[in-house]
Amino acid sequence: MKRMPAGTQLLLLAAAVAAGCAPRASPPSLDALQGEHAFAETAAFVGLGPKVAGTEGAARAAEWIRGRLEALGWSVEIDEFTEPAAGQPTTFRNVIGRRRGASRQIVIFGAHYDTKDGIPDFQGANDSGSGVGVVLELARAGAGWRWPFEPWLVFFDGEECRVTYGPDDGLHGSRRLARRLVREGLDRRVRAVIILDMVGDRDLTFTLPRNSTPALSGAVLRAAERLRIRDLIRLAPGAIIDDHQPFLDASMPAVDLIDFEYGSAPGRNDYWHTPQDTLERISPRSLEIATRLALATALEVVSATRERR
Ligand SMILES: [Zn+2]
Repeated sequence: MKRMPAGTQLLLLAAAVAAGCAPRASPPSLDALQGEHAFAETAAFVGLGPKVAGTEGAARAAEWIRGRLEALGWSVEIDEFTEPAAGQPTTFRNVIGRRRGASRQIVIFGAHYDTKDGIPDFQGANDSGSGVGVVLELARAGAGWRWPFEPWLVFFDGEECRVTYGPDDGLHGSRRLARRLVREGLDRRVRAVIILDMVGDRDLTFTLPRNSTPALSGAVLRAAERLRIRDLIRLAPGAIIDDHQPFLDASMPAVDLIDFEYGSAPGRNDYWHTPQDTLERISPRSLEIATRLALATALEVVSATRERR
């Protein structure tokens, strides 16, 4: 960049203001979403170390996410709460970034940021780094957009269970937010909850769980057609427990964008929850596809809602 004399800068600024050149918000753009940026966020996040719920590492991660969102101009709230996890009182923190939208419809893009406990040398590049990187890329690219809905970027704590999934073990952050939306009457405005989890695999295929809202799975398929990645979407043979479930339980439309075949050969999931879940096994290209699919799905849902009116 070349420096100009201060006087010249002032003159140019005055001319721009006179010509009405204040920056105008642009509509969301799928092309603006870049895998390299998502990967850089993921790598930085993984570099923070383990983020087991209730530990110092998780608290640091929440503050780091808050810093990234605030730097990009999002309003941020950390919702801190304490409840038992498998009988052990644990403090959790959801990080929630918000902006205004052109309508009152709400779309939640969510990813858990906590990492699984009890795995020596666990990095969690894909589980949970990839989801965090993707949602932060929506934050970066979308900082100047005129969103057609109110975007909520939510980073959930306590997705991983301590012992085994149950009413007081795992999905703590998503259960907390789903209940709160119902309590505050905001659930009626939620058009879609789109969860991103394990979406960085170099060999990416989305395995849409059976426990997803059918209309939203349909929107994912239409979005995938539009992006010409329909061949990357498959229906999982069964349900998958993930952060979308508490929203389904509270009658909100929710879908889980997840690749639950993260392994050494097609169909295998043997890198999941192992020290093999490293940055070398995820790719900027996969993160880019996941980011675009999430946004394209949201735009499908909101435009379909408009057409029905
Ligand atoms: Zn996990």
